[in-house]
Amino acid sequence: TSTPTPPYLQNLNAAQRQAVETLDGPVLVLAGAGTGKTRVLTTRLAHLLITGRARPWNILAVTFTNKASREMRERVAAIIGPAAEQVWLGTFHAICVRILRRHAELVGLKSNFTILDADDQVRLLKQLIQAEGIDDKRWPARVLMGVIQRWKDRALTPDRVPAEDAMDLAGGKIAQLYRQYQERLLTLNAADFGDLMLHCVDLFQKHPEVLAEYHDRFRYMLVDEYQDTNVAQYLWLRLLAQKSKNICCVGDDDQSIYGWRGAEVGNILKFEKDFPGAAVIRLEQNYRSTPHILAAASGLIARNEGRLGKTLWTDVDAGEKVTVRGVWDGEEEARVVGEEVEALQRKDHLLAQIAVLVRAGFQTREFEERFITLGVPYRVVGGPRFYERLEIRDAIAYLRLIAQPDDDLAFERIVNTPRRGLGDATLQAAHQVARSQGTSLMVACRYLVETDELKPKPRKALGDLIRDFDRWRAELEHMPHAELAQLVLDESGYTAMWQADKSVEAPGRLENLKELVNAMQEFESLAGFLEHISLVMENAEDASIDQLSIMTLHSAKGLEFDTVFLPGWEEGVFPNQRALDESGASGLEEERRLAYVGITRARKKANISFAANRRVHGLWQSALPSRFISELPTEHVEQVTEGGLFGGAQRQTDWGAATWSGRYASNPPRESGGYFEANTAQGRRFARREAPTLEGVPYSVATNKPNAAGFQRGSRVFHQKFGMGTVRLVDADKLEIDFDKAGTKKVLATFVEKK
Ligand code: ATP
Ligand code: MG
Repeated sequence: TSTPTPPYLQNLNAAQRQAVETLDGPVLVLAGAGTGKTRVLTTRLAHLLITGRARPWNILAVTFTNKASREMRERVAAIIGPAAEQVWLGTFHAICVRILRRHAELVGLKSNFTILDADDQVRLLKQLIQAEGIDDKRWPARVLMGVIQRWKDRALTPDRVPAEDAMDLAGGKIAQLYRQYQERLLTLNAADFGDLMLHCVDLFQKHPEVLAEYHDRFRYMLVDEYQDTNVAQYLWLRLLAQKSKNICCVGDDDQSIYGWRGAEVGNILKFEKDFPGAAVIRLEQNYRSTPHILAAASGLIARNEGRLGKTLWTDVDAGEKVTVRGVWDGEEEARVVGEEVEALQRKDHLLAQIAVLVRAGFQTREFEERFITLGVPYRVVGGPRFYERLEIRDAIAYLRLIAQPDDDLAFERIVNTPRRGLGDATLQAAHQVARSQGTSLMVACRYLVETDELKPKPRKALGDLIRDFDRWRAELEHMPHAELAQLVLDESGYTAMWQADKSVEAPGRLENLKELVNAMQEFESLAGFLEHISLVMENAEDASIDQLSIMTLHSAKGLEFDTVFLPGWEEGVFPNQRALDESGASGLEEERRLAYVGITRARKKANISFAANRRVHGLWQSALPSRFISELPTEHVEQVTEGGLFGGAQRQTDWGAATWSGRYASNPPRESGGYFEANTAQGRRFARREAPTLEGVPYSVATNKPNAAGFQRGSRVFHQKFGMGTVRLVDADKLEIDFDKAGTKKVLATFVEKK
């Protein structure tokens, strides 16, 4: 009675098949990068539908990003066709919004509630901080907002905040601020991102009949990237899976990289306890990367303690070693990456198969500039996004206010943009009325213009504005929303404001506003469009042109590319200094996992690089190669030093590893100050850079000329990192110094002070 294996199952190995076909009860797939975890989830989804186990609406599938949802939906559609549309598939947040809109009144919201972005949240909290008379310089709203968000990640509502957590913050008033903030959000008919999870958990806990409805609906649950769920998400999943117990989670403890945002790697470690009787399936064959890439990544991650440990193997050809390249500075790094990209293009590689993965957002700029110069099409994934630009935010505030007149934050943003003579005095009066009457600002203003509280000019301007909004809102009934948007921008004077603006940015802003109206046409309603904006935090992608991707390591999770560039592997940049300062050893381990994620994105080639000099906040600083470089197993790495440094590219496999790992093995790089000593052609290079600016910095700057003015052999000097020393050699703007404690180093004269 054996039936032939359907084609969609033939593409799986035995362990993967087991994970797809174990349909009853909890399943955890715990496996390393590139072993097909996501492929298992997609196939399992298709399998549930094809075997008739579930109807599309009986399946809930959670992914980590919107992009991943789209991809999964496409892949499932390729197997089962249009029924894929009806599966509940999305990020935690997208699914929570969908649920909350249907039951909003049960948590104190209306179904058209607004989702606040990060700026709105901070502005709101700042108002509350000031109202409490707390010094917002000492306790910046952004910092306190972070604290509140972490509580929300841990599903701690204001009444459940642990006293010892709250004691030292904002003069002991943080819990109170948190409570006020939540109350204020309800009055504004708004929720922030964290609330989407919290309200949903609350809804399920307090309304068993609603939970029962979803138990009936979701018979099978699938979760990708389980290692990065936080407590609130975990509670949410557990509530939903309570009845059917058919929950399949896939993840990799070595890829947990959102601890700083409240993710609990513990969730994956205690899955079997939380879901008794769980089948735990391990996948060991990697289908993505070459053996060198895999071995380099595995060797690195093996330095972490407290991991479950996994076997990973692959049967593809060895391929190329991982390249580690030292360059002079960031500009050179971008230039070299640009050259490599062009070389790949000449060999007919697709740009879509190339990615530059950076540790922090600010690092994209140099590469962007380089790619613009070279005419290499690129996109910044998850970076400075269209919808975050100033003029777009303003325009959206108008639209939000039309959709939702109670949206005070939107009101404040545009009440005097463009200028209408509605300054602070008017706004203060409006706030006072709003507080005393318990209404929104818009309603308060309606009230104000009926009185003589305001001077005649602002009174008239405010009256006009309110009438405009009433008219626009009425127009929405019979005018397409994109057309209305154009009308609003024109009639409000917003377009005219930028037309009159003579700055270089103004034309670009006007183009962006046009593009906004274009974008709106793709949506059925204004509400639909606004929801899209608040949720879709990723760049609009133009699939029609071949583009290279630039993104942070965090946004690269789950993705794969033939060639990956990993620049900026320097102490302080990566591992990131803030992560080390704030979270110590666990911070370092999370950084190392991030490095593991980065390397394992590559199918064929991973290129790591570091620069000897970086400009940080306008200051040139010498940099140390990241400790992660010395942790890579040398037999899988090829060291390359860049062109001009030695008058011609050199490829070596011995010196670098010997110098770095040898030194670092006995001495941690921070203390030893292992300066990268491979640069000699500095004069020529330095001449084409701008002068270093060192205003207000407690050490002297020589000059921007390639010349270490005033230093000579025997001078006693002080260097910030290495301390006191004696100059041994002056070489253009570089000095070789015998430091009393740190030994002989080459440093830039810029950072040396004469004693
Ligand atoms: P990550 O941990 O990075 O999220 P993953 O475990 O989710 O990785 P996938 O992205 O599902 O891995 O798979 C990695 C690559 O291997 C994909 O290109 C996928 O199509 C391919 N792959 C997975 N399983 C198989 C298989 N059995 N046969 C051939 N290719 C496979
Ligand atoms: Mg995956």
